[in-house]
Amino acid sequence: MTDRTDLVNTGGWAPPGGVARVPLFAWPPQPLAALKWFVGLPGYLFPWNVFYVGTALVAWLYLMPDLASMRTFSVGWIAQLLAVNAVFVFVFTEAWHWRLYARRAQEMAFKYDESWPKPAATFLFGDQHIDNRIWTMLSAVPVMTCFMALVLWAMASGAAPTVSWAEHPIYLALVMLGVQWFRDVHFYCIHRLLHWPPLYRWVHHLHHKNANPGPWSGLAMHPVEHVFYFSSVLIHLVVPSDPLIVVYHLIAAAFGPARDHCGFAAVMANGKPRIQAASYMHYLHHRYFEVNYGDSMTPIDWWVGTGHDGSRQAHEAMKRRLRKARA
Ligand SMILES: [Zn+2]
Ligand SMILES: [Zn+2]
Repeated sequence: MTDRTDLVNTGGWAPPGGVARVPLFAWPPQPLAALKWFVGLPGYLFPWNVFYVGTALVAWLYLMPDLASMRTFSVGWIAQLLAVNAVFVFVFTEAWHWRLYARRAQEMAFKYDESWPKPAATFLFGDQHIDNRIWTMLSAVPVMTCFMALVLWAMASGAAPTVSWAEHPIYLALVMLGVQWFRDVHFYCIHRLLHWPPLYRWVHHLHHKNANPGPWSGLAMHPVEHVFYFSSVLIHLVVPSDPLIVVYHLIAAAFGPARDHCGFAAVMANGKPRIQAASYMHYLHHRYFEVNYGDSMTPIDWWVGTGHDGSRQAHEAMKRRLRKARA
């Protein structure tokens, strides 16, 4: 745990202990803290993963076409998936934006950056929010839908292995629980790759224009990065799974970045922090670039020495590492 006085000053609000570490991987083991993290509020399951599962259930059972109709590709069912994804992503992301940036309902309270995003010529139409909405709605949502259509078609046509909830409920529940860990490892790998200078200049710089990110910045990426990012769902072509888990996987991948880039540690209601929001870990990535390539679910960054927990010590270690890399 880092003391507040040891934290590097980023101008805005910073969590008192720096970046929170998931106790699941603590050494020596902390079983009670790990259990609390898993089922507590906020924790692994609540509120966000349960919310993503609930959203996926509503989408799959009531709004998306039957699996049987997906045995052959046709414009009709793919357009239906696109419409559902577009509405869901727009409503979820705009809700964060509306409360925190349009209404400024809690002003700067719990905001990591000390200022509001400003107009800049680097953004489309000179406006970060408009630029971010365009990349999200015109690239992220179609790419996400293509991956969803491909994997669901593979399941419908028998090209991908599926198992039923009636026969293997425990196995499928474990697959569902594993989705976020797999996504985390996959994200670390593609994100490291995207910071390789040629790919960074061609692709990833577009996301990093958002040094002061907001909810719409989460999926504001180059189309090639969208292909990298959503490709984690291809795991279901190999690991026996179920269509609901595919929809959950992609909903979590599409919704998570809005929350994680909202720029605020918590959403307040009645004067108190009520809802856990953006991680400090990814905020530090947007601020310092060459640290925290992963998210806090799996401690890969700490294992390989690219972690920054917000402390002065970690900051000095980052500077030493970058000096060495440039030498
Ligand atoms: Zn980001
Ligand atoms: Zn990056």
